[in-house]
Amino acid sequence: MVSRVIPVDPFDLVVFGGTGDLARRKIMPALFRRCAAGQIPDAARIIGVARHDHDTNSYRALIAESLRAEEAEPCHLEGFLRRLEYRSLDATDPAGWDSLAACLGEGVRAFYFSVSPDLFGPLAERLRNHGLATPDSRIVVEKPFGHDLGSARALNRTLAAHFGEDQTYRIDHYLGKETVQNLMAVRFGNMLFEPLWNSQYVDHIQITVAESMGVGARGAYYDQAGAMRDMMQNHLMQLLCLIAMEPPAKFDPDAVRDEKLKVIRALDPVKPHHIVRGQYAAETGCGYREEVGDPRSITETYVALKAHISNWRWAGTPFYLRTGKRLVARSSIINVMFKDAPHSIFGEEAGRHANVLSIRLQPNEGITLKVTIKEPGPGGMRLVDVPLDMSFAKALGPENQNPPDAYERLIMDVIRGNQTLFMRGDEVEAAWAWTDPIIAGWQARGDVPKPYDCGSTGPGDAELLMKRDGRRWQGINP
Ligand code: NAD
Repeated sequence: MVSRVIPVDPFDLVVFGGTGDLARRKIMPALFRRCAAGQIPDAARIIGVARHDHDTNSYRALIAESLRAEEAEPCHLEGFLRRLEYRSLDATDPAGWDSLAACLGEGVRAFYFSVSPDLFGPLAERLRNHGLATPDSRIVVEKPFGHDLGSARALNRTLAAHFGEDQTYRIDHYLGKETVQNLMAVRFGNMLFEPLWNSQYVDHIQITVAESMGVGARGAYYDQAGAMRDMMQNHLMQLLCLIAMEPPAKFDPDAVRDEKLKVIRALDPVKPHHIVRGQYAAETGCGYREEVGDPRSITETYVALKAHISNWRWAGTPFYLRTGKRLVARSSIINVMFKDAPHSIFGEEAGRHANVLSIRLQPNEGITLKVTIKEPGPGGMRLVDVPLDMSFAKALGPENQNPPDAYERLIMDVIRGNQTLFMRGDEVEAAWAWTDPIIAGWQARGDVPKPYDCGSTGPGDAELLMKRDGRRWQGINP
């Protein structure tokens, strides 16, 4: 089965921060792939903007270099570079805007803010004041969206002064992952799961986003943020919403986002003993503190917590969320742990077997359902758990083995004007309203993260968090 590519209408996409890391590693490769797939028309233009002194030719060479790892047909590469232009401009300076305005056409204009967050407000203001913002314009705002509730509210207000909510696309790239969208398809496209999707049948849910890398070059930013702000408040919160939300009446942006918002608002405050903070440490000197050059840093690189959603569907079902850096493997997975059968007709010796629905986001996107069957062979009734593997590649053919990268889907959604997979302002604020008291509690108590070994599954206290409830984490497997 070959997926259909529907070309979008011509557009102008201005990438502020067009020479930066995100633009070169993610945005441009994503655009290139969509272009090579035939989705971006000839008349579309992609305009990189930054302070650097490039001209269009040297910028094309810079981007071509970033695309070296792509398996590119020369004609595809040429076709993409032809659509690329460059303008040098300082976002804080009044000069250069009129010339940028002059090179934009009629029709859809998308302005991608791939710059430091303190420039989001000034950029929105200048786009409006210099007449670049038309009714058909939209802005794409990268994370982090605020540092706490106050700063997120202030940023929402600033952006709202210049662009409508329907023109504002707050990116959380987790929402662009194929499996995340599949989660909605599995839940709401099948009769099989939804009747079981509640506290009566689900014992608990585990959401793990594990990274094997450390903070790398992002140390200065990360040390001010930590895992709670950098991962939990946005990515894990979004996954939690999609797992827990009620079926929206239709698959449209506000219907989906209304339901997600209700989940966040129904979250109970997290009790201090239901949360574990960790920081990676290493005897060999490659611990977090050495990496950020601050021997006293108490920024967490790991968080595990137990959350409760107070509504009819989920009262009594805990959600265990964990995320961390320098863990044993890179793995993002949601495990829906169903309850044991109420009574085993096979007797005690058959053991306890519960179904697990695993939704793997990365690597190897796919969905597995663990079911219990009879162990083959004579000699009585022994039960064994086997995975029913809904591997997309197997089911849909090898051409679907590598689904489009999240940025490919999200940028095309911006151009098409579909906000379903973007966070609305009130959602972001509600997520901060839940996160802020947790961080304030740590600060008030002088909490220090527990050290954990690089390459481990995190601090021992996270295992205890589960053990106290008679449960255990599923493994972190690559
Ligand atoms: P970067 O420092 O590599 O690039 C920043 C870009 O902004 C450069 O092109 C620079 O020339 C440009 N710039 C800086 N000041 C400017 C000004 N006054 N006027 C015009 N251009 C200016 O940063 P990055 O890693 O590409 O990150 C960009 C944004 O994306 C940040 O908000 C970051 O938090 C977010 N983000 C980055 C990543 C990532 O993997 N790099 C991931 C998620 C979110």
